[in-house]
Amino acid sequence: MPEHSDLNWEEYREAIRGMRFFDPHIHMTSRTTDDYQAMFDAGIVALIEPAFWLGQPRTGLSSFKDYYSSLVNWERFRSSQFGIKHYCTIGLNSREANNEPLAEQVMEILPLFLYKEGVVGVGEIGFDDQTAAEEKYYRAQLELAKQAKLPVQVHTPHRDKKNGTERSMAIALEHGLDPAWVIIDHNNEETVESVLDQGFYAGFTIYPFTKMGNERMVKVVERYGPERIMVNSAADWGISDPLALPKTAALMKMRGIPDDVIKKVTYQNAIEAFGQSGQIDESVFANGLAIDQSQKMNGNTILRGGQQPRIAKDSLLIK
Ligand SMILES: [Zn+2]
Repeated sequence: MPEHSDLNWEEYREAIRGMRFFDPHIHMTSRTTDDYQAMFDAGIVALIEPAFWLGQPRTGLSSFKDYYSSLVNWERFRSSQFGIKHYCTIGLNSREANNEPLAEQVMEILPLFLYKEGVVGVGEIGFDDQTAAEEKYYRAQLELAKQAKLPVQVHTPHRDKKNGTERSMAIALEHGLDPAWVIIDHNNEETVESVLDQGFYAGFTIYPFTKMGNERMVKVVERYGPERIMVNSAADWGISDPLALPKTAALMKMRGIPDDVIKKVTYQNAIEAFGQSGQIDESVFANGLAIDQSQKMNGNTILRGGQQPRIAKDSLLIK
C-alpha cells in the first residue's frame, strides 16, 4: 500500500472498501443531497446531528421549535432516503445561551424534544466565550441530561480551549455526571490526555486547512490508542468536509493502523457512548439501511419532477 498522503480521494477509497462509519457530529441541515450520496458511497451508515446555532441568532422561540422539530422529523427522513440512519442531540447552544430572555424560554421546551425517539443525547452544549450566561445554561442542561438519562455532547471553545475544556469537565463532575456519559468534543493534542485521564470520551473534529487535520489525528491514535476516542467531521455551513471520517480512516489504514483500532474510533466508540441513551439499535444500520426513495413524508419527497428513485435495498458500500 502506498505511503503517501497526497493520493486523491478515489485512491483513498480503495483502502477502506467494505468499512462502515458512524459520524457522531455532523450538521446535515446545512448540507446538500450530493453530500448525502457521497457519504453513503464512502461507507457512512449512521450519524448524529447535534442541535447548534445557524450562523445568525434566532429571534424567537418558534425558530428553535421548528429547528428541533426538523431534526427529529424531516432531516431524519431525508437522511433515510440516502441510506443513512440519522440520530440527533438536542440542546441550547452556547452562543445563544447569551440571549438570556430567549434562553429561558428554550429551556422550557427542551424536555418536549429530549424524550423523543432517536434523540441520543443533550448537545451540543458548553462554552463559547465562557460567559456567566453560558455557564448557567450549561449547568441547567447537565441537570436535564441527568433527569432524562441521556449522554451529553460538549462543545469546547475554539478560543482559550484548554481552560474551557477543563472548566467543562469540572462542572460536569460537580453536577455528579458519570464521565463515561459525557463526550468532550473538538479536542486537540493539548486537551486529549486530561480528557481521557478523567474518564471522559474524547471527540476529535477533522477540520480542513486548520486545527485538527487528519495527519494529526493519526498521530493521536498512534500515541493514545483507540479507547474512548471518536473522530467526527462536524461539517456544517462553513468550510468543512462531510467525508472527513472515511478519509481519516483511509489515512489510518495506509499508516498501518489495525482495522479493529480504526473501527473503534470511526464507528464503535460512538455507538457505545451514545448508545447509553438506549436509542441506538445497531442492527438497524449494521448491514445497510434499506433505501426506498419513492417514500414520502407528509406528502413530501426528495425527488423532483421526473426523477427516478435510487433504490438499494440490500447492502451498502463502496462501488
Ligand atoms: Zn457542531
